[in-house]
Amino acid sequence: MVLNELGARINSALQALSKEPVIDEKALDALLREICGALLESDVNVRLVQQMRLNVKKRVNMDELASSSNKRKVIQNSVFEELCGLVDPKKEAWVPRKGKQNILMFVGLQGSGKTTSCTKLAAYYKRKGMKVGLVCADTFRAGAFDQLKQNASRAHIPYYGSYNEADPVQIAMDGVAQFKKEKFDLIIVDTSGRHRQEAELFAEMEQIAAAIKPDNTIFVMDGTIGQAADSQARAFKESVDIGSIIITKMDGHAKGGGAISAVAATGSPIVFIGTGEHMHDLEKFSARPFVSKMLGMGDISGLVETVQDLHLEKNEDMMKNIAKGVFTLKDMRDQLQNILKMGPLSKIMGMMPGMSPEMMKGFDADESTRRLRSYMCIFDSMTEAELGSDGKVFDDGKRLRRVAIGSGVRIVEIQALLHQHRQFGQIVKKMGGPKGMLGKMNPAA
Ligand code: GDP
Repeated sequence: MVLNELGARINSALQALSKEPVIDEKALDALLREICGALLESDVNVRLVQQMRLNVKKRVNMDELASSSNKRKVIQNSVFEELCGLVDPKKEAWVPRKGKQNILMFVGLQGSGKTTSCTKLAAYYKRKGMKVGLVCADTFRAGAFDQLKQNASRAHIPYYGSYNEADPVQIAMDGVAQFKKEKFDLIIVDTSGRHRQEAELFAEMEQIAAAIKPDNTIFVMDGTIGQAADSQARAFKESVDIGSIIITKMDGHAKGGGAISAVAATGSPIVFIGTGEHMHDLEKFSARPFVSKMLGMGDISGLVETVQDLHLEKNEDMMKNIAKGVFTLKDMRDQLQNILKMGPLSKIMGMMPGMSPEMMKGFDADESTRRLRSYMCIFDSMTEAELGSDGKVFDDGKRLRRVAIGSGVRIVEIQALLHQHRQFGQIVKKMGGPKGMLGKMNPAA
């Protein structure tokens, strides 16, 4: 069962409890049966599920709680806390410190998404204002350096590697030394994920770790491997001192319950999850917001961070326009551009409180994102004068055809955009101007 469905099932079990006239042991057992069944179907380890069940029962003392509404509240809180416990080893996650040269080593099996995650993380900290460099210390896999080089170049991240040097330990040391000399804040070292024999792979990881003395080692694991996650994580933990974990391929349709819960049980915190192949598809992981989001209760901290990281365009000009009752096509473009910068709409919607997985069902986020992108192509084909207008200039069919050819978008779609803009414009006209609500609030504009 994928995580969205798991969230929806637990949510509806909790909702059903709200409708029960009498809350007793029988009702609690029925609720736990439903929740535990859903967790097992999502690949969560049987032992952990059993433990969770016992813990909730221990927390809820039916005899002490007087009213049914109190019982409901305590049960719901206990379930929430225990779900958090499943994914939280209660260990603070390492974060690179500013003003220090931080070294981070990546380990994980080939194909887990290690190289992709290295670049995603580098880009993440670059957005936070850090000077980040990537080192490719994988000499086993042909093409590993080229892959890192390609990813890093696309994200404008400096990289280090060698086509001639065969010793990964030497490359790791040289790369770290060079970036240290150049005063980088964060140096990320990617290592090999496969060898002729497993023992050789672990020996190489140990040697690299001994040579570069990383401040933290991140273990990258494929989230789709289910129950096998537990033994894989333990095997890595025995060889290297795993500090943090990234679970990849947790895209909407992934069945990641096994990886997430089993890994957390090994004692290292999950710090990020990979949710797609693109650079932005990396989400910070914290137990409570994760569970909250899964249950459709939103993730406000994630939303705030996403918005802060984007350095959105200041829209003072637009605010002035709106106060005057004016809304140009350019104002519309700037707003839609801000929305697109936040990433796929499905992710943003998921962070909104109250957006339960059921409510998301009717909303085709991919289609909406596609439409926004085609709107951007249309805006790109307009002249500055057209963008600064109220759109009436497009009553002229010649202009419409020109924009359609330039943008590769059908005329009906351009007309749909202009229609939406006109509707917004009418609202703005009512709200703005000296007599409107916004005009009164901002008479100077
Ligand atoms: P490595 O061998 O561990 O370095 O793995 P790579 O970084 O080369 O990734 C292996 C494959 O997994 C590539 O095709 C990546 O695009 C893909 N991949 C990595 N992370 C994610 C993710 O979060 N979601 C999805 N869908 N694919 C991913």
